[in-house]
Amino acid sequence: MLDATLKTQLKTYLERVTQPIEIVASLDDGAKSRELLGLLQDIQALSSLITLRDDGQDPRKPSFSINRPGGDISLRFAGIPMGHEFTSLVLALLQVGGHPSKAGQDVLEQIAALDGDYLFETYFSLSCQNCPDVVQALNLMAVINPRVRHVAIDGALFQAEVDQRQVMAVPSVYLNGEPFGQGRMGLEEIIAKLDTGAADREAKKLNAKAPFDVLVIGGGPAGAAAAVYAARKGIRTGVAAERFGGQVLDTLAIENFISVKETEGPKLAMALEEHVKQYDVDIMNLQRAEQLIPGRDGALHEIRFAGGASLKAKALIIATGARWREMNVPGEQQYRNRGVAYCPHCDGPLFKGKRVAVVGGGNSGVEAAIDLAGIVSHVTLLEFDSKLRADAVLQRKLNSLPNVTADHRSPDHRSDWRRPEGQRPHLQGSPDW
Ligand SMILES: Cc1cc2nc3c(=O)[nH]c(=O)nc-3n(C[C@H](O)[C@H](O)[C@H](O)COP(=O)(O)OP(=O)(O)OC[C@H]3O[C@@H](n4cnc5c(N)ncnc54)[C@H](O)[C@@H]3O)c2cc1C
Repeated sequence: MLDATLKTQLKTYLERVTQPIEIVASLDDGAKSRELLGLLQDIQALSSLITLRDDGQDPRKPSFSINRPGGDISLRFAGIPMGHEFTSLVLALLQVGGHPSKAGQDVLEQIAALDGDYLFETYFSLSCQNCPDVVQALNLMAVINPRVRHVAIDGALFQAEVDQRQVMAVPSVYLNGEPFGQGRMGLEEIIAKLDTGAADREAKKLNAKAPFDVLVIGGGPAGAAAAVYAARKGIRTGVAAERFGGQVLDTLAIENFISVKETEGPKLAMALEEHVKQYDVDIMNLQRAEQLIPGRDGALHEIRFAGGASLKAKALIIATGARWREMNVPGEQQYRNRGVAYCPHCDGPLFKGKRVAVVGGGNSGVEAAIDLAGIVSHVTLLEFDSKLRADAVLQRKLNSLPNVTADHRSPDHRSDWRRPEGQRPHLQGSPDW
C-alpha cells in the first residue's frame, strides 16, 4: 500500500515513538477493508512498538482505533486516511506513542482541564486541505483528555451516513450527535467554543495591554507584511486577526509567489506566522474587530472586538482582505453547506456522480469546473457576462472536457445581467490569479 519512499519516511518518524501503540481494526470482506488492512500492516511492520489486531467490533467498517495497550484514548479513523489526511494519521501515531505535541503548554492544560464528555465526529474528504487541521486538533484533544473522543470519517466512504445527516461540506464536525462546526477550525478555536470562560479570560488579557504604536487588524499576507515592517522600526506592534493566515489557509497549490516555484497555502501561512514571530510582535488570534473609534486630535484610536475586549493604538493598519463573495439570490443562505458549497477541492467528493453548477467564469470558477468534472457526472458553468474571464489556458482545458457546459449570456443580453462589480458572482477569492 505504501511505496518505498513513504515507508522510509514513516519509519524515521516512528522512531520518535516511545510507548507501545495498539491499532485495532474493524474490517469486513470489502475491497476498502483489504486496502486498509494493507496500510495498517505496512505501518505495523515499521515499528516494533506497534501491534495490530482486527476485532470487527466497530459498526463503521473499515475503521481503526489507535490507543495505548489498556489505555483510555478514544481516537478512530473511519476510512483510509491517505491524501491530505495521511499527516493526521502520522501525527496521531506519534502523539499516542508518547511524542509531545507542539501546542503551547497553556493550550494543553486547557484541554486537560475540559470538564465534560465530548464525542466528536468529523466528516472529511481526502482532497480537503482544510480538514487535517480540524482532524488533528480533535485527535490531539482525544490523546490528552480521555473524556474527549474523536472519530474522523471519510464522507466519500460512508455515503449513507453523509446522506442521512445531510453533510454536503467538509470538514463538518458533530459533537454528541449535534452539529458543532463547519469549515476550517484550529485547536484554539475549538477549545474556545467548549471552554466558555476562555473568551472572558482572553478579553481581560487584551484589555490589560498597553496601547500599541501600530496595531494591524488582519493576519493575512498583507497584515503579516505590515507587522514585520512596523516591528523592524522598533515600535510597539500588535496584530489582531479573526484567523491568522487569512485566505491563504484556504488555498492549496500556490505557483505565482515569485522566487518560490510551488508551495501550499497552509505551509505559507505557517511561514508567515514564523516570520512575524521573529520580531517583537504581539499576535492576538481569534479576535474579530467589530468597531473602530477614531481618536481625534492626537488621541489614541480604539478597536473593539466581538469577545468584549478593546485595544488602543496610535496608528491602525486595516488589512482585513476578502471573503467569499455571495450572489445574494434566494436560497443561498438557506442551503449554505447543504448544497451551496464554496470549496470545490474539499466538498467535491461529496457530490460524486451528481450534476452540479459552478457560478463564475473567472479563474476560480473555471478551475473549480475542471476539477469537479473529474468527480461529478456533469458540470454547468454559469457566467453572467457575455464571455468567460479565466486565463486562456484554463478555458482551453475546460472546452476539452466532455461533461462540462459553459453557459453565459450572448453579448445582446449583457445589459440584463450587468450588476455592480461588487455583486458579481464568483465561486471564491480573487479572479486575478
Ligand atoms: C481558494 C483560494 C486560492 C487562492 N489561490 C491563490 C494563488 O494561487 N495565488 C495568489 O496570488 N492568490 C491566491 N488567492 C488569493 C490570496 O489568498 C489573497 O489575495 C491574499 O490572501 C490576500 O491577502 P490579505 O492579507 O490582503 O487578506 P486575507 O488573506 O483575506 O486576510 C485577511 C485577514 O483579516 C482578518 N479579518 C477579516 N475581518 C476581520 C475582522 N473584522 N477582525 C479581525 N480580523 C479580520 C482575517 O481573519 C485574515 O486574517 C487564493 C484565494 C483563495 C480563497
